[in-house]
Amino acid sequence: MSLSQGRSYLAIPGPSAMPDRVLAAMHRPAPNIYEGALVTTTETIVAKLKRIAFSTRHVGIYIGNGHALWEAAISNLFSRGDKALSLATGQFGLNWARHAGAMGVAVETLDFGLKSPVDPARVEAALRADKSHEIKVVLLTHLDTATSVLNDVAAVRAAIDAAGHPALLAVDCIASLGCDEFRFDDWGVDVMVAASQKGLMVPPGVGFIWLSDKAVARSKTSDLRTPYWDWTQRIAPDYFYQYFAGTAPTHHLLGLAESLTMILDEEGIDHVWARHKALAAMVWAAFDAWGRGGDIALNIADPAHRGHSVTAARIGNGGADRLRSWLETEAGVTLGIGLGMAEPGTPEAADFLRVAHMGHVNAHMTLGVLATMEAGLTALDIPHGAGALDAAAAVCAAACAKG
Ligand SMILES: *Cc1c(COP(=O)(O)O)cnc(C)c1O
Repeated sequence: MSLSQGRSYLAIPGPSAMPDRVLAAMHRPAPNIYEGALVTTTETIVAKLKRIAFSTRHVGIYIGNGHALWEAAISNLFSRGDKALSLATGQFGLNWARHAGAMGVAVETLDFGLKSPVDPARVEAALRADKSHEIKVVLLTHLDTATSVLNDVAAVRAAIDAAGHPALLAVDCIASLGCDEFRFDDWGVDVMVAASQKGLMVPPGVGFIWLSDKAVARSKTSDLRTPYWDWTQRIAPDYFYQYFAGTAPTHHLLGLAESLTMILDEEGIDHVWARHKALAAMVWAAFDAWGRGGDIALNIADPAHRGHSVTAARIGNGGADRLRSWLETEAGVTLGIGLGMAEPGTPEAADFLRVAHMGHVNAHMTLGVLATMEAGLTALDIPHGAGALDAAAAVCAAACAKG
């Protein structure tokens, strides 16, 4: 008998769970796109987008998903043949680099594998070796959603500076913004991209780019720019339509205004970060317990190198795929598939999954996911250690006691 009726939960790393308030804010006729409330709402959104990234500089908005924002960054930052240094810690970093290469950028990749973060010493060495400063931009993924590695952005900036290299630093925070701490100005970031459907709790369809003055200056001479992707008017429009190079994403803006109010003005960004940390710690505690009695393990061994919005893990003998499918059909919970962890089509590819704890997620949602996973492991006879739910509950209780 399936027990999946009731409210389903898509516990994948985007689209994330959305607050009903965000959906309700969108449930109305389209507003005037030439003047009036939408114009002021957009100005407020831009100011809040700067706040959420701790930036005092420039923000642009695009209609598009995360891939679109990768392309926005590349087209404004590079001329054909320019060189980029890509720091890869999983599928997402590799794909951003692939986009750059396809657009005519000469990409050098430092690949740190699927289980460890970027080593700033290797970045510094690569930049020191680039004596003629051919590398224009370093591409970094803050939280690689495929591996759940969290990279130290400030340490990469320090490595660039230590090498005395003028390269700009561009960071993909699509999976981390609004979940893990990020500080655009303090960490010396030049370009950061994010999208609506992850920590920002809005349906997929809009993306954002944050720019330093240096990044804006660089774009003036970039020959990969085309009129739609050019950020010049988006960050400083004379007319409202120029924010979006056309019709405004009306309903996304209405939803976003609500979610940014919830994150920044009601819960507070420090609490949002702390909540994601607590939920992640609950998931990690459960996996640690399961792993003590079975072929089950978190992908990233050191908790200091794990992101707090998604957890990548392995359950051997195809257990990951079987558990995901059981959860969806029997319990109404959808977990994330493994991405880039094994050759597609091989038996190993069925061993990886991801649990998201991203966005509008609270203790009962995460404990509920873990409890249904425990039920699934039992139902499927997948060997696993005992005490996972006790461990997760203890982490929850301790986090709440801290106030
Ligand atoms: C989700 C994600 C992307 C891709 O975003 P789409 O909206 O799916 O195009 C890129 N980078 C990271 C780190 C992501 O988590």
